[in-house]
Amino acid sequence: MSAVQLVVRNALWGKKKVDVLVARGRIAALAPAVRKTRVDGAEEFDAGGLALLPSLTDCHTHLREPGFEYKEDIASGLDAALHGGFSNVMCMANTSPVNDNATVTELMLEKARSAHPGGPRLYPVGALSRGLKAEELAPLAELAQAGCVAFSNDGLPVPSAEFFRRAMEYAWDQGRRVIDHCEEPSMNPGAGMNEGPVSGRQGMTAQPDVAEAAQVARDILLADYLKIPVHLAHISCRRSVELIAWAKERGAPVTAETCPHYLLLTEERAANYDTAAKVNPPLRTGEDVEALLAALNSGVIDILVTDHAPHAAHEKEVEFDRAPCGISGLDTALSLTWDLVEKKRLSREAFLRAWTTGPCGIFGLPVNRFQVGDPADFLLFDPAARWEVTPESLRSKGKNTPFLGSRLRGRVAAHFLGGKKKV
Ligand SMILES: [Zn+2]
Repeated sequence: MSAVQLVVRNALWGKKKVDVLVARGRIAALAPAVRKTRVDGAEEFDAGGLALLPSLTDCHTHLREPGFEYKEDIASGLDAALHGGFSNVMCMANTSPVNDNATVTELMLEKARSAHPGGPRLYPVGALSRGLKAEELAPLAELAQAGCVAFSNDGLPVPSAEFFRRAMEYAWDQGRRVIDHCEEPSMNPGAGMNEGPVSGRQGMTAQPDVAEAAQVARDILLADYLKIPVHLAHISCRRSVELIAWAKERGAPVTAETCPHYLLLTEERAANYDTAAKVNPPLRTGEDVEALLAALNSGVIDILVTDHAPHAAHEKEVEFDRAPCGISGLDTALSLTWDLVEKKRLSREAFLRAWTTGPCGIFGLPVNRFQVGDPADFLLFDPAARWEVTPESLRSKGKNTPFLGSRLRGRVAAHFLGGKKKV
């Protein structure tokens, strides 16, 4: 026990009072608090009965650097992640220049290390195609070697099934999987509004949920045929959930994610042309929300991600059709989804899987299960804290969230990374 550097006392793990012991940046023990372990020379921290959670992992963010630093940069994005409870953050390749070569990947990693040397850790996702144009494959081997943990054309669909198949094969040769942004490109891509009675009433350009499901079906069939894994990004509707359930039943190597906003909001939120609720894929119906929650609880949907997509205020303050898609999510994701656990809409087990073991398992990232030797990345969470979402309360430069003005429940009170208190 002499190497123990930190003891966090009196934390609540589920319903149990525990002490967390940390040695050399790793978990040394999770001990019942009643034992009052005496550890000489270690720093002591009283958790005061707050909830203990492993740090979360977000596999889908847009940190905008290089090229769009007025929306977000790697330093501010990781700051939002740190205060939002995340230790691992994957960032998409639709920067300028696009992350389709090792120079950009290395620049991203260097920015992360210099701004946040103790974490959160950044894991870039490399572009699947040069310039995200879906014409020519990006140099996936070079990108993997530089540190890209997955590949994606996120933001833009890949129209050609043959191109996508080659990309899956080449990525898997590098031990990486493809994350697909599923959108049938001939059906009003990026409309940001669900096609149905609401869009009809308002006369809005809209996209049907089959635009997503059609690409989901293609990807599932390819994964099943090739026996190569594919990961489906930001699933938003019941039709896709049913296809994924079918794929998993027959053992196709398919994993899938959804985002907090698809579990909490419907198309009605965008009915008044509110650009804060314009997101791609669009917010769907109440029936879709129920299907997604059931799928997340059962494991048909594997993980949660934020799809953190910060934009500047002036970009969203335009007509709905001209506004960019996206919601700033790193600051609010934990509070929003923990509230679903409190309301018994989401099980605690599914919450933990969706934000920790699930994503780390799929993409091979370090995870804390509170077992001896795990990285000592954990939070003390105050479920009783109340806070209002205001532009000032968000660490991200992106204030574009439909939850602005909401009073949320639960907040990160302390965040330890590698056993060091960062928040
Ligand atoms: Zn996307």
